Amino acid sequence: MKRLLSILLFIFLFTPAYSYAAPIKILLIPGHDNESWGAQYGGLKEAAMNLAVSRRLYDILKKDKRFEVHITRDSLGYTKEFVDYFANHEAEIISFKDNAKKEREKAITNGIFIEGENAPHNDASASGAIKLYGFNKWANENNIDAMIHIHFNDYPRPKSWTAGKHKGFVIYMPEGQMVNSRGSVLLAADIFTQLRKKYSTSTYEKELGGLIPDQKLIALGSNGTLLPSVRSVLIEYGYIYSLGNSAARQKKYDDMANRTATGIKNYFFPKP
Ligand SMILES: [Zn+2]
Repeated sequence: MKRLLSILLFIFLFTPAYSYAAPIKILLIPGHDNESWGAQYGGLKEAAMNLAVSRRLYDILKKDKRFEVHITRDSLGYTKEFVDYFANHEAEIISFKDNAKKEREKAITNGIFIEGENAPHNDASASGAIKLYGFNKWANENNIDAMIHIHFNDYPRPKSWTAGKHKGFVIYMPEGQMVNSRGSVLLAADIFTQLRKKYSTSTYEKELGGLIPDQKLIALGSNGTLLPSVRSVLIEYGYIYSLGNSAARQKKYDDMANRTATGIKNYFFPKP
């Protein structure tokens, strides 16, 4: 008996602490979808690029037992989980959105929430917005620890078929008054540190510095739609026209996913 106890004690002492804890739940959201693909440059569609990085990140995190990883879509479209969720909960998602907006308007009127200036973004279409609010509702209900929104960037310019002048990456994070801001900002900083080792930050004047707080992006929990425990960051990895030929792009997708995974691991499991 004594021997058994000492064996158990030995196992306990030498098993890393994280293996006792529930896994960290990550939701990957490759931006846009096959119907509405975001930016386009020649034959290159942003939604496919977002998915390429997301799949790689999914594979890396999936191998690590400390994480439980979910993704919203694959090459065929939304995964079954989300197809079903949107089909069965559309009315609830709409009232979730409407209530949140009403509450936020009240808070603004009462001076509890101060509206700031935000970088300009293309407004999500009505159906796109429902999906984004739906992801937030799902993340709240499923105890997600972090949502990672994956995008490539573009900016308004007259000839979108030619390369633009801006380059560099940017990470958007919830502004300081938002309840999920604190954890999200630290997570964003850890991912930023890894990306910054290799890539320069955005040269676009509204994105200077590369770490930008935002109140309006639904993805980050605008209108108080994410719980304090649901961190969310939105990464624009680079400008759509700046990744080079197909072989160069594939290499960059690998590298971007690797660096993002390292940033996520460093945030959740900091080295002493
Ligand atoms: Zn996008």
